[in-house]
Amino acid sequence: MKEVSAAIVGGGPAGLQAAITLAEQGVETLLFEEHAVIGEPIQCGEGLSIHAFKDLSIPKNDENFCVRELDTCHLSFPENQTILGDIHAIMLKRDKFDQFLSDKAKDLGVKVLTSAKVEDLQNRTDGVRIRLKDKNSSEYLAKFLILAEGPNAKLARKLNFEPPSPMIKAYEYKLKGEWSEKLEFHFDANKYPFGYCWVFPRDGETNVGIVTTAKDRKQRLDNFLKLKKISGDILKKIGGQIPMNGPVNKLYCGRVLLAGDTAGMVNPIFYGGIRLGMTSGRIAGKSVVNNLKMESERGIFNLKNYEEDLGKHNFMKKINLQAHRFFYTRSNRFLTKLGEVSNYSYINRIEGLQIIKTLGKVLKRPTLLANPIGLYWLYRGFMIARDWGF
Ligand SMILES: Cc1cc2nc3c(=O)[nH]c(=O)nc-3n(C[C@H](O)[C@H](O)[C@H](O)COP(=O)(O)OP(=O)(O)OC[C@H]3O[C@@H](n4cnc5c(N)ncnc54)[C@H](O)[C@@H]3O)c2cc1C
Repeated sequence: MKEVSAAIVGGGPAGLQAAITLAEQGVETLLFEEHAVIGEPIQCGEGLSIHAFKDLSIPKNDENFCVRELDTCHLSFPENQTILGDIHAIMLKRDKFDQFLSDKAKDLGVKVLTSAKVEDLQNRTDGVRIRLKDKNSSEYLAKFLILAEGPNAKLARKLNFEPPSPMIKAYEYKLKGEWSEKLEFHFDANKYPFGYCWVFPRDGETNVGIVTTAKDRKQRLDNFLKLKKISGDILKKIGGQIPMNGPVNKLYCGRVLLAGDTAGMVNPIFYGGIRLGMTSGRIAGKSVVNNLKMESERGIFNLKNYEEDLGKHNFMKKINLQAHRFFYTRSNRFLTKLGEVSNYSYINRIEGLQIIKTLGKVLKRPTLLANPIGLYWLYRGFMIARDWGF
């Protein structure tokens, strides 16, 4: 059985960023990805917050994976009110982006094994035993393991972790032609319960999708296209599930740390998870570096620092979930009033004098005033989503 200092399951953004962080600190790292090609198949709207590029030292002008930068975002409400969102993002070629991360990891010395499905894990006192689903049932022993296997969290369940729950499903068309000049999010409590439709323009193409708890999402997306008079050949159809309620409670156990979607690292307002996943991967990597050192020097380890470091970020705060629950259980009547208050102003830039002006408008609308604490959650949640939304 081959022994290794650190192993990662999952070659998505969370696992790859964890691998990069470990290798940067000189840790011998092995990453297992079940698919033959990193980044395929794509299951993503392909928008990534501009903040991620700075935080995680990603070049934002790399034409291999950066398609287009967008600094205008419209949040549309039921009766066509439009709130401006201070959300600045780059549209990615998500497959090429993941491959860029994988190449970076390999250049730093990470061994990336593709077509390597991990079938079983045993979280033991001397390390984590890893068994692959291959003809030899190959086995490895890692001192620490970062589990970034995506939203299904099958291995996490086997290890008795609570999986991210509930899930929300998303469905998207990649269409020929550019059908907008800006990022668009369309909210409607009746048509897209617990979610929205999006329009993300690219270069000669547009990603148009829906995320909702409604089961007939394809039909609802088709209706949205008709309503917005968006046509264009369908180049690709994609779908997938997304953790809906933010981070899970238990993030580590024994020698295993959870990162990315497996740990529920998704912002519950816009349901984006690339940046949160990579951030959690980076923090998990740092925690493993520290614990390897601690164990070799003092014979003990303590993964609690993973949870503590994550806890310093406001995307971990409970208020995100409170904002999510409040926002997505409002009626269209409420959303319409909210749209009126903020029409053509920035919902997530209400600061200073703007707070007083906005409060004045809120006071004139009793529908909004029924739950002032909910309004506060919403305000804070959208502020956090500006930075960590996707
Ligand atoms: C339709 C859709 C649109 C989205 N749009 C956006 C968006 O625009 N912006 C955004 O920020 N987020 C978006 N998201 C969410 C985002 O895609 C995820 O949050 C992100 O991919 C999570 O990264 P990850 O590394 O945790 O998991 P993943 O990207 O899912 O990677 C997990 C990897 O683990 C591998 N794996 C699983 N099990 C095993 C195993 N047993 N052995 C070996 N390998 C295994 C998988 O093959 C996969 O490659 C969207 C999601 C969906 C479904």
